[in-house]
Order: sequence, then C-alpha cells, then structure tokens
Amino acid sequence: MIYLLLLIVKWLLIFMVMLVVVIAVGTWLFLKFAPTFGGRPDATTLVRIKASKHFNGETFVNLVPTHATTLDIDDVTDGVSPEESNILKQFLFPPKGKNPSHPITSYRLGKPQASSKQQTAHKLTLTTQPLAEGEFIWLGHSTVLFRLAGKTITTDPVFHRASPAPIGGKPFAMTHAPKVADLPFIDVVLISHDHYDHLDHKAIKQLIRQKKVGHFYAPLGVKAHLVRWGVPDTMVSEFDWYEAMQIASVKPSQASATDTSLPEDALRVVFTPSRHFSGRRIKGHRTTLWGSWVVQSPSLNVYFSGDGGYSSEFANIGERYGPFDIAFMEDGAYNERWRDVHMLPEESAQAGFDLQAKVVLPIHWGKFDLSTHHWRDPVRRIKQAVAKGNTQVAMDKQIKLATPRVGEVFTLDKLPTEAWWETES
Ligand SMILES: [Zn+2]
Ligand SMILES: [Zn+2]
Repeated sequence: MIYLLLLIVKWLLIFMVMLVVVIAVGTWLFLKFAPTFGGRPDATTLVRIKASKHFNGETFVNLVPTHATTLDIDDVTDGVSPEESNILKQFLFPPKGKNPSHPITSYRLGKPQASSKQQTAHKLTLTTQPLAEGEFIWLGHSTVLFRLAGKTITTDPVFHRASPAPIGGKPFAMTHAPKVADLPFIDVVLISHDHYDHLDHKAIKQLIRQKKVGHFYAPLGVKAHLVRWGVPDTMVSEFDWYEAMQIASVKPSQASATDTSLPEDALRVVFTPSRHFSGRRIKGHRTTLWGSWVVQSPSLNVYFSGDGGYSSEFANIGERYGPFDIAFMEDGAYNERWRDVHMLPEESAQAGFDLQAKVVLPIHWGKFDLSTHHWRDPVRRIKQAVAKGNTQVAMDKQIKLATPRVGEVFTLDKLPTEAWWETES
C-alpha cells in the first residue's frame, strides 16, 4: 500500500515538473517568436536611429528627465495621496467603476442619412459614403478618423485587446464596437508609438489584408513591426522628432518643418515630441521612438498628442505650429505614480491652452481599463479643468471641449457637447 502511494507521488511529481517545463518552454517560444512583439529595425533604420540626436547609443531619451514610474522611488510623496501611493493595494483590490457595468452606447460606424435624426439608425456605411472634408469620428481611446485636404486620416488604429496575450487590455463592451471592416480606405495612418493600446498588430494585419491603407507614418524604429505584420516596406515612412513630410495627392515628399505654405490639395504631417517611452517586449524599451503629430491642411490645423506627461514642449509646439483648430489630447490611464509619462486631466487641459487649441477632443479614455481610476473620471476632470482654465484667459484663447460618443460623426462648427457618460453605468 505504501509503495503504491509512493508510486503515485512519484508520477505526480514527474507530471508537475513536465508541466512546468512545458509552460516555461511555451512562454519562451511565445515571447521569442509571437508576431505581436514585432520585428527588429533594418540596416537603413538603424543608421537613422544611431544618428538621431535623441538616441544615446542604447535608447531614445526624452527632452526632459522622465521616470516611466515612480514605483521604485520611496520618497515620491508630493501630491500623492496615501490611497494612490499604495499601488499594489489598488491593483489587488481595484476601486469600483474602472470598467462600465453595461455596454457603452456607441454609434454604428457610418454617416446618418439626411432623413434620419437618430445617428444610431439609417446609417450610410463609411465604405460606400466616405467622410466629407472636415468631418471627425472618435472610435474610442486614441483612434480618431477624419478627413482633411481630400484625404482620410486615422490616428493609432486599435480595435482589439491592448495586450500581447488573451489576458488584460480587453476593450469595454459597446453597443456598436468599431471594426476594421467598417472603415473606409485610409490614405494616411499616423502611429504615435508602439505600445499595445496604440499599435494593434491584428488591426494592422486586417487593414493590409483588406487593402484599406495608403501609407503609414510612424516613429523611428516602428517600421520593423509593421513590416513583420505584412506591410510592404515602401508603405511606411519613419520620422524623428520635428521631421515633416508634405503629402501631395500623388506622392509623399520630404518637407521643411518650418515652411508653412501649403498647396491647395496638400497635407503636411510633422512628428513632434512627447514625454513618454516605448516597447512591446519585456526587454528593449525605448529602442523605438514615441511622439505626437501635427497635421496641417490649407483649411485646418490638427494636433494629436499620442501619450505623454506634461512638459513645456506643448508651448513650443503651440508656438511653432499653433493655433490648432482641434487637438486630440491624451486624457486617461493616469496615476500620480506615472505622471511623468501620462498627464493628469488637469495637465491635459493645460497642455491644450499651451498648444493654443481652439477645440480639445479628450482621447485615451472610454475604451480600455489601464489604470486605477473610474472609467468616467478622465472626461469629468478635464471638463472641469477646461471650464476653470477658460475663466483665466481672454475670450479668444478659450477652449471648447468636444465630447462625441464613440462612432459619432462631427464637425468643428457643430461640436458634440452632451455629457453622455453620465447616463451610462
Ligand atoms: Zn504609451
Ligand atoms: Zn496609451
């Protein structure tokens, strides 16, 4: 009997060791070879990376000293409440309301017919009825679709989990979750950096398979990821900070970052700095660049913040390229503990004033649970901060806030301002 028990224990131990080995090997293979982790830069890009004045020989560096988190710094208590400083507790016992409890009411992607008062009904699809000049649609988080100078543009197209594995980063449930299949042809795809909530490898593969993209504009080092996922090399242009490109109707060409004159049909994009970091793997962070984008057309001037902490660079960008007709401003996934790399809503509002933005569209909220705050807090706080800021500036410097629902088509002369999040739970 004892012998039999010992035999069972022996086989159980063997089984457990084998299980651990299989899991370890599987994890190693996944981390080493899964396409979601992207590729390594080619020789041409490596030369450009090494020549960049923002590269220190190993990684890219921010314009001002920046900590990705202050979790490792014991004496950072300024402005951090005891509640916020105990980050481990917040992760183990997350506060309620980080995720909506019901699907968020969003609009089916498409344009309302003239006869329809309800945007949710009688839609014309964007594939058959593209956006008109000056129309914008927020698709949740940092994805904004818009049309300028006869070109359809999107920022950071993300439609799946903001995670490399099937755990974490699940998008909030929506009544009409935007899908790649519903998108029109996109002439210009702007990528801010290679984090999972901004560079979605499944979406990139779908966009390429469905032949929906004209050209990708990406930070230095990010082309390797796109190429690994099937994007032809010739369809990607990489940028260092303050590099610009003029996109004529026929072919993109290098442009001066300071020359502001634009032909009728031209669009100019400028890759501008942000205070952030990058990386899709456990190792090798900051080996690709991160940033924000300025998009200029003869009729409208647009800014897309990407991700980043607050810095004086917003005022520099505003000085060089502002005023902006609309700024898509990061507002969400913040915490005092990583304030250097993600602005608090009050800082997002201040950055809007620094940029000389006429309209601010809060982005980086409403789709993913990536911090410890309530899902509605980013928009509530920025709304208050903008209202307060407006009382301290002259009328012509005041900011209007655009708060569309996900999927709602809007223009700058008819901004959506409904506080729709207050009626969602
Ligand atoms: Zn990021
Ligand atoms: Zn982000």
